[in-house]
Amino acid sequence: MLKFHINLTIGITMSFETLGVMKPLLSAIKELGYKNPTMIQTRAIPLVLAKEDIFATAQTGTGKTAAFGLPMLQRLRNTTADKNRALRGVILSPTRELALQIYEDLLSYSKNLKLNIAILVGGKDIEYQQRILREGVDIVIATPGRLIEHHAKGLNLSSVEIFVLDEADRMLDMGFVKEIRATHPLLPKKHQTLLFSATYSDKVRKLSKLILRSPQFIETAKKNTTVDTINQIAYLVDTDRKAALCAYIIGSRNFRQVLVFTKTKKSADELAIELKKDGLKCGIIHGDKTQANRTRTLAQFKAGDFKVLVATDIASRGLDIEHLPFVINYELPGIPEDYVHRVGRTGRAGREGEAISLIDIYEKYDIREIEKLIGQKIEQDVVEGFEPDPKIRRKDIDEVKMKSEHKKPTSKKERKYNKNTSTVPKTKKQMKVTKKKRKTTKRD
Ligand code: AMP
Repeated sequence: MLKFHINLTIGITMSFETLGVMKPLLSAIKELGYKNPTMIQTRAIPLVLAKEDIFATAQTGTGKTAAFGLPMLQRLRNTTADKNRALRGVILSPTRELALQIYEDLLSYSKNLKLNIAILVGGKDIEYQQRILREGVDIVIATPGRLIEHHAKGLNLSSVEIFVLDEADRMLDMGFVKEIRATHPLLPKKHQTLLFSATYSDKVRKLSKLILRSPQFIETAKKNTTVDTINQIAYLVDTDRKAALCAYIIGSRNFRQVLVFTKTKKSADELAIELKKDGLKCGIIHGDKTQANRTRTLAQFKAGDFKVLVATDIASRGLDIEHLPFVINYELPGIPEDYVHRVGRTGRAGREGEAISLIDIYEKYDIREIEKLIGQKIEQDVVEGFEPDPKIRRKDIDEVKMKSEHKKPTSKKERKYNKNTSTVPKTKKQMKVTKKKRKTTKRD
């Protein structure tokens, strides 16, 4: 049964010190400019130090890495210099980008401790990772599949004291449930589990029942809400004018750093070509790029080598870009929850941000699902010179309605009608492609 954690700190400003964070960690976070703990940190740190299991729903950008990272480092600080020392901490991350972000954060928090931390993600040389492990490692940050691979090659998980699942909802959306279920029995019976999820889905609740023991429940924000400091707006535009509008917004408002999300890898590539024609230098991150390429592109974007980063939802979680002021949804995501994660790339750590969605006639309906999820209306407007063509609207309206309601044609009349529309597959080959289409993949 879930125990509800009552926040006793309301009205009292807590400090990291009063939460019980030890000196070597205090001086490290001071250097990073962390003055006061965030809400999730205030609630989670004492519980993690008290060895409780926790189930935390925290919005993206709320400081959750330090919420589990600081007390975890503190709990595991006593280590030996022995090469054969046991691995005692495992953090699972859905994406390589998020894993890298956590790794970098933990390295800076632990600079005054003697702990060895390693990152084990797919797309990197497994033998190199094994060599690092042979040197003796205390904590690993891993993607689920790669951790299982290492276990198959001899990584011993039987001494793990703390097991963290970060962005658990994303891991489940990406189909990692098998890997997580396979990892659980490899851990010792007695260990502490910390489950963090941005959203509160049934899938996550089901998983929590399997892996958590009498967890303390921490909810720092309303379910699926976007951060208050983010201004959200949607511009109505015709599909074939989206790229031009995107370039126009970036150019006319002189955006210096903007993350543009597309729904597919193909449209990311195509959009980048279009933006380049408009003189905008872009980087691209999606699942077909190698890990080395993705890491390099992100570093260049952070360094300001180019102002536009076009990405699929692979980048909607985990990417922490300091002061990122703008996010553009060139296409709305397939899963409404991903909208929360995308716009959460801006407005981080209490800063202001703006999320602009470019919506065509089809997405006008999809955005309602997002509004339902976040419990707020997103203002809709048009940009002068990019007003949607009203004729297109009239012509496609029935088809659009059907698409939004996900109706399957049943009657003969409907089938006949659909033969003449473009979105319904006409040939067997097209049918096959449509059938195969997945909502999410492990990479994207
Ligand atoms: P996270 O939600 O862990 O990805 O953190 C979001 C951003 O907030 C990161 O850039 C952190 O470095 C930063 N951050 C985390 N905790 C604090 C804090 N207590 N004060 C200021 N910034 C913080």
